[in-house]
Amino acid sequence: MSSFVTHLEAAIDGTKLPHDRLQTTHEGRPLWVRYDLEAVGRAVTRDAVERREPALWRYRELLPVERDENVVTLGEGMSPLLPCPRLGAELGLDRLWIKDESQLPTGSFKSRGLCMAVSRAKELGVKRLAIPTAGNAGGALAAYAARAGLEAWVFLPADTPEVNQIEALLAGARVFRVDGLITDCAAIVAAGKEPMGWFDCSTLKEPYRIEGKKTMGLELAEQFGWKLPAAILYPTGGGTGLIGMWKAFAELDELGWLADAARPRMFACQSSGCDPIVRAFDADERFADPVADAHTVASGLRVPKAVGDFMILDAVRASGGAARRAPEDELVGWTRRANALEGIAVCPEAAACLAVLADLVGEGAIARDEDVVVFNTGAAQKYVEALRAEPPELPATGSPETIDWDALAAT
Ligand SMILES: *Cc1c(COP(=O)(O)O)cnc(C)c1O
Repeated sequence: MSSFVTHLEAAIDGTKLPHDRLQTTHEGRPLWVRYDLEAVGRAVTRDAVERREPALWRYRELLPVERDENVVTLGEGMSPLLPCPRLGAELGLDRLWIKDESQLPTGSFKSRGLCMAVSRAKELGVKRLAIPTAGNAGGALAAYAARAGLEAWVFLPADTPEVNQIEALLAGARVFRVDGLITDCAAIVAAGKEPMGWFDCSTLKEPYRIEGKKTMGLELAEQFGWKLPAAILYPTGGGTGLIGMWKAFAELDELGWLADAARPRMFACQSSGCDPIVRAFDADERFADPVADAHTVASGLRVPKAVGDFMILDAVRASGGAARRAPEDELVGWTRRANALEGIAVCPEAAACLAVLADLVGEGAIARDEDVVVFNTGAAQKYVEALRAEPPELPATGSPETIDWDALAAT
């Protein structure tokens, strides 16, 4: 099949651009992918989609790849939507859900965006891909590039979690440590485009990662019986997922697939250690100033400047939600609590959402009986350094003959 894409559209001023060639940004700002949704509606129904394999590519007609042979896949999606009664009770909520993206290939939702970006890059003849990353995006790019037989060049801050460095190396990428933040890595990738001939897969600097992330919103709607929850809390770095979900809801609405027009309130959650979107929200600005000295154990949130800032803020405001910060020193505690209460590998980024959620419930901004969804964007197991920083006591037991069972039972 060919895709239903009609064109690309500059988010900043609506300029139309053709999609049959490589595109990056317009005026330094991101591009939307636009579809002929009427034709999509004629080609496929909701019911037909529901009968397909439970994977991201079940939404094929709403995705930008032209030819099936260019689909690069590691079997991604759908991620489970898990009810969380114990964590919910602790937060004062009857219907708390976690959409668990830690189960996707490479252990984070970055695989959704990068399977789409790599598929399209391959389709358009790219051979060499490059990415600046706070961690998980580099691992995902490396894996999908390997899968497609393309080159990956990964630039990450020197203090990126070690697992992220190793996973990219394992997948055969060329990996470089940069003394600085993701913005410094991005400057290297941008400067190297000409001399190195690589294609820049940075967040929102090519049009297709949003389309991959959009599938989180499509799945969520389907999993709720083509309705949407009352509130979504999303750990926001570059914001692709939040922007993508908001786009998904608009497309589903236009297709007439939503049983109910009500949209969720979208809460963009950040850490007090790196909160540019929250500052802009509070100041009533549409664009965010870069924050200095960005630091957080939630490495995916260590994005001091997002090119899609206005797209995040527009969606948050249109939804009646907010951008909120969690105290940095509460992230490890919420990570532990959520893992222990529900057995879900909740990462520190998602923990920021839980801290914010506690505040929102306390303020009455979210009611006990509302359906609330928190996105667990990655796997806790990747954050060895952050989680070891507060070591739990691991007692030694001795051999079976010498164990004092009463003492053990009392621990
Ligand atoms: C990248 C990342 C984020 C931020 O995602 P955006 O869509 O870019 O805002 C959140 N959590 C984790 C685990 C990540 O890897």
